[in-house]
Amino acid sequence: MPIRLLSPELATKIAAGEVVERPVSVIKELVENSLDAGASQVLVEIAEGGVAQLKVVDDGQGIPSGELELAFQRHATSKLENQEQLEAVATLGFRGEALPSIASVSHLTMSTRTPDSQNGHRLEMQWGEIIRSGPHGCPTGASVEVSDLFGNMPTRRKFLKSNSAESSRIQELVSRYALAFPHVRFQLSVDGRSVVNTPGNGKPRETLLALYGSEVAGAMLEVKGEDPESGYQVEGFISPPRLHRANRSYMTFFVNHRWIQNRMLSFALEEAYHGLLPDRRYPLAAINLALPYGDVDVNSHPTKKEVRFQEEGRVFSTLQRAVRAAVVADSPVPSVVSSGDSSRTMSAPGFPYPGSSFSGSRHAGSSYPTGNSSLFSPGGFSSPLEQPLAPPDTAAPRPPAPALKVVGQVKLTYVVAEGPEGMFLVDQHAAHERVLFDQIRRKAGEKTPQSQALLEPVTMELTPGQVEVFNANAEFLAGYGFQVENFGANSVLLRSVPGIMTTQDPAQALLDVLDMVAFEGLLRQQEDVLAATIACHSAIRAGKPLTEEEMRALLEQLEQADNPHTCPHGRPTMIHFSLMNMEREFGRR
Ligand code: ADP
Ligand code: MG
Repeated sequence: MPIRLLSPELATKIAAGEVVERPVSVIKELVENSLDAGASQVLVEIAEGGVAQLKVVDDGQGIPSGELELAFQRHATSKLENQEQLEAVATLGFRGEALPSIASVSHLTMSTRTPDSQNGHRLEMQWGEIIRSGPHGCPTGASVEVSDLFGNMPTRRKFLKSNSAESSRIQELVSRYALAFPHVRFQLSVDGRSVVNTPGNGKPRETLLALYGSEVAGAMLEVKGEDPESGYQVEGFISPPRLHRANRSYMTFFVNHRWIQNRMLSFALEEAYHGLLPDRRYPLAAINLALPYGDVDVNSHPTKKEVRFQEEGRVFSTLQRAVRAAVVADSPVPSVVSSGDSSRTMSAPGFPYPGSSFSGSRHAGSSYPTGNSSLFSPGGFSSPLEQPLAPPDTAAPRPPAPALKVVGQVKLTYVVAEGPEGMFLVDQHAAHERVLFDQIRRKAGEKTPQSQALLEPVTMELTPGQVEVFNANAEFLAGYGFQVENFGANSVLLRSVPGIMTTQDPAQALLDVLDMVAFEGLLRQQEDVLAATIACHSAIRAGKPLTEEEMRALLEQLEQADNPHTCPHGRPTMIHFSLMNMEREFGRR
């Protein structure tokens, strides 16, 4: 084929491929436009994951009638005039690509009116072509309705997840923007049900309350910091060390009120909690960084979700210092921990070491003894080893003698074993997780799942997002032994947990399950995510003394696992020290 210029229509459709990946990308662009237009209210409605229909309505400044059609041309924007402005973008949008991109892959209707005009205007488009355009009575602001998204791009449709998965992404997005803009009232309804409704009164803690419930909103700590040299400012909320989650999905960062994803910022936040959180538990946070516009390059990603910092190190340390100050003010840290060495074994508050003196009860109604608020606390409920490590079926012949011989236990965390090839260090928690994961996966789908009833059912407050996930997965959870009932709009009643579970805090276990299924379930098989989370809440902890018999049982079962070398999260269960290496180290070779 000879080289030819693409037609404008095709060029737009190709650009749309980058900007509009899925329904949530459409919502993101429309909500950003509403915020750029100075809206004080943003209403979002979606049906069937946003694919069938979505709508964003705002009360911002609107578009003058004469400019509405122009707004749908590529590279048409009111937000940039010259190169200097591109060097210091102050608005969320600036590329002039969103409206034409969305219009090229959907049926779209926009009606809008500016405050100073009598009449509004309405424009209707299909696959990028104008169908109708004319005066229209409507309130000030803008309303964009999109239906049949990707109706002309069947391949893109095929890559979408289930409606409930797409809905939960949209809900996540709207919630994050609500946190960044507490002065704006956000409402989201999913298939007619209201799932987000923030007050928009400028009070961040009340926004947190609307999104995450009273328990979280009440506990969150305020963060405020400034780097005197650069004037970089950090402001927002973080969780106290006793409150934590199973993944990073509750960590939200904004740069100049733009929601962004950035590993460096997550790392800075986590570092500030060093020594205070149990392993693989993550803080909650909603933090805005206010930087001079010229110090941030927002033009590095088509959907603008990533940015580049001119002074990355300074951003890192400003954030980390501010967070650390807030955390330490909440719970004084033992001196060894703040020296920054490998002090994770110190009994800092909330840390699961047997010496930990911390105690607090988050779920007052829990029928389990609640010692430590973390799941990882030692002692208390029946020995985790009693059931899971007994031979799975007593009628079956005992497995052959293990190839690994137990030598002992190090730091109440690692089992030392001798094998034909040298020495092995086995992480007792990771190894047990692997064993239980296999058991849970094997038993999944049994007609009557094993479950243990709680002495007293626990009432739990869920966020609207968690309610969504629960409603969509109630049967799936029941199949694993979680008996949960709806109990009012935002509450559930937890009656039983999987039979295998030894957690002391069943409510936290269910919260983790809902969070993991919602966020990781988009990437991995839901069954695996659920089994891994249950295994994590059932496996013996680091810090638990084991008898020789228990260690032997653990190694035997590990040897029979489908994948003995890694835990379900992918971390190693054991490290091998080969004889040859040992001899080399000792200078015998
Ligand atoms: P960008 O936001 O990058 O400028 P868009 O394609 O998203 O590009 O929008 C084009 C223009 O349409 C914007 O610059 C703005 O002037 C106008 N616009 C879009 N949405 C709205 C809205 N909700 N209210 C007022 N003006 C809007
Ligand atoms: Mg825009």
